[in-house]
Amino acid sequence: MNMGGDDNIAVCCEQAQGRRAAFLRALPKALLDREDSIAASVATENASARSKLRRIYKLMDEMAVHREGKVACKQGCAACCRMNVTVSALEAEAIAAATGRVAARITESVSHPEDEYLGRPCPFLAAHECSIYVDRPLACRKHASYFTSEKWCSLPHVNTVQAPLVRFGGLDDALALVSMRKNGAVFADIRDFFGMPE
Ligand code: SF4
Repeated sequence: MNMGGDDNIAVCCEQAQGRRAAFLRALPKALLDREDSIAASVATENASARSKLRRIYKLMDEMAVHREGKVACKQGCAACCRMNVTVSALEAEAIAAATGRVAARITESVSHPEDEYLGRPCPFLAAHECSIYVDRPLACRKHASYFTSEKWCSLPHVNTVQAPLVRFGGLDDALALVSMRKNGAVFADIRDFFGMPE
């Protein structure tokens, strides 16, 4: 049995931790400061919720540039599009406006068991690519695999490792804030808003 490289879970996890740390080291302080303060910044900004949402996405995309060379993610790999994808009602409305699809009107957050949609595609996955890439939600922009191979991102291996992730607390707070409705921010899976793929 080959217990080196891609087959050795401990080695792969150590490499992934190292790549995650390298990403965090590569982030310029100015970007980290903006991430820390974006919730406060959008709270006082005189702009529409949709415009604030675009600003949140832009900041995440600027940070994601520094992941290059440190992640397994590449065009044509859609492993993370076969998992739960939590989006806010504001994000669902933005996707609906961009695509012409109708988003279900959901007024209370819906939570799902962590693995409910493992192995089941997002309704916007088409030919292994995101059909709404420019408008994809924050959850998709944040998500990245620091492993050297996509092997650990899909079944049957995905549940055998604890993938090292990065939490973007400032962006999460900002998204919750701009998504706020009368009774609080509403979050649900992207499939709750748009249904299962046809
Ligand atoms: S919105 Fe796009 S990137 Fe996100 S899970 Fe769906 S297909 Fe994948």
